[in-house]
Amino acid sequence: MNKKILLHMCCAPCATAVLENLRADGYEVTGYFYNPSIHPWKEFKRRLDAVKEWAPAVDLPVIYNEEYPLEENIKMLLDSENRCLSCFTDRMKRTAELASEMGIELFTSTLSVSPYQNHRLLIEAGESAAESLDVQYLYRDFRDSYRRSIELSRGAGLYRQPYCGCVFSERDRYLKVKSPGEA
Ligand code: SF4
Repeated sequence: MNKKILLHMCCAPCATAVLENLRADGYEVTGYFYNPSIHPWKEFKRRLDAVKEWAPAVDLPVIYNEEYPLEENIKMLLDSENRCLSCFTDRMKRTAELASEMGIELFTSTLSVSPYQNHRLLIEAGESAAESLDVQYLYRDFRDSYRRSIELSRGAGLYRQPYCGCVFSERDRYLKVKSPGEA
């Protein structure tokens, strides 16, 4: 019997290659879209819609969390010492809680396909989210599949975003400055 896993999805392009890898390893994958740090709302909607368009085509069941608490989210990012660690932790915590509620022992994230993310922070966030729950964070370094994700998402005609998500990362992208969670 395939082992179940809850996959936090930051966007459809990153999910393409991660899903391919997890399925090749025999996992039965359920997706979870939860990304309140995507600004502005139109960009959030565009990424959400791309997942909604793509997931049925690859038979991926996805749970959508469409909450968009912009003020709380900006406050969380501004109040933290490292906004990317807080952002990862928030997303991993909600994924871990949902996995536990659903009786799925393992969870992971499509963020780990990106060579631009700081994987050490991602592991820290995933492991701390799992700590007090009956679930486990599965870290897999999917960076070798990053090019494959570009190929698959181009093939599927998916929207590919030009920056990580929050308004700070949008500024950093165009000023060519590194975000604190960037590798
Ligand atoms: S740069 Fe990306 S990971 Fe860091 S806070 Fe912004 S959206 Fe989150």
